[in-house]
Amino acid sequence: SIVVTGATGSLGRHVITQLLEQVPAEQVTAVVRDAAKAADLAARGVRLAVADYDRPQTFDGLFAAGDKVLLISGNAVGGDRVDQHRVVIEAAAKAGVALLAYTSAPGSLTAALADDHRATEQVLLASGLPYVLLRNGWYHENYTEHLAPVLAHGAVVGAAGEGRISSAARADYAAAAVAVLTGEGHQGRTYELGGDQAWSLPEYAAELSRQTGREIGYRNVTVAELAAVLAGAGLPEHVAAILAGVDASVQQGELVVAGGELARLIGRPTTPLADAVAAGLKG
Ligand code: NDP
Repeated sequence: SIVVTGATGSLGRHVITQLLEQVPAEQVTAVVRDAAKAADLAARGVRLAVADYDRPQTFDGLFAAGDKVLLISGNAVGGDRVDQHRVVIEAAAKAGVALLAYTSAPGSLTAALADDHRATEQVLLASGLPYVLLRNGWYHENYTEHLAPVLAHGAVVGAAGEGRISSAARADYAAAAVAVLTGEGHQGRTYELGGDQAWSLPEYAAELSRQTGREIGYRNVTVAELAAVLAGAGLPEHVAAILAGVDASVQQGELVVAGGELARLIGRPTTPLADAVAAGLKG
């Protein structure tokens, strides 16, 4: 079976949808916390397995020898994600799966946000499992799904200066995961994945201006000020600090992922940022 964790998340849904274009539904298992949230997947013939990274026993017997597994990293930023991922890796190792692919972060990223990914990679390598590291760069949607405050204030606010980001659409990273899960020759590979074009926050603001016909500027603040903005929007302070810290990395160029590996894996150019902006503006 091809087993996908985080299947009811945004990336996971793209992965399942694209897998179903290539393999029969009965060969796909979606690991979900809440079966009700996955009713649509079950209706399409996908097998559901209910399990929670925080409850190790729920992974007992979930994997079978020969499975190919996509471990989609959890979203508890500032929490115990390494312990969560270890639960999945240990269960997969015990079962003797054929491959475990993990959605990591770019190797160039030194921000605290990357710590959980680096530590998970260590756990995975130490497990002896056949692995693939999908070091996903940034999603366009990190920006384009959060346009309401930008439009309300007529400004993109960040702390990254002119730093560039080679983001791609979630659907692009999902296609890379599907290529790895359904293809051969990926075992032991570390893929640094990013979009074909890098852009800066001022350029992003200019694209928003172009598509809305309004004047939307870029306002650069300090990392501390950005953390305060995020906390003010409701994020716990330690999470706000971790996320704001990413902009310091962006300013240093750590989210530029060159090399075109994503486009090569998926066999087409990555989705332009402008497409994601258009989708975000439609709501
Ligand atoms: P989502 O938040 O949409 O999805 C996260 C998935 O993880 C959900 O399916 C969620 O389950 C599942 N999950 C969380 N905690 C647990 C748990 N304790 N046990 C089992 N499953 C759990 O994120 P995306 O799909 O957009 O992105 C996937 C991952 O990529 C994120 O979790 C994060 O690690 C990372 N990420 C990467 C970004 C990038 O730009 N490269 C940006 C943001 C995140 P449920 O559906 O039940 O909530």
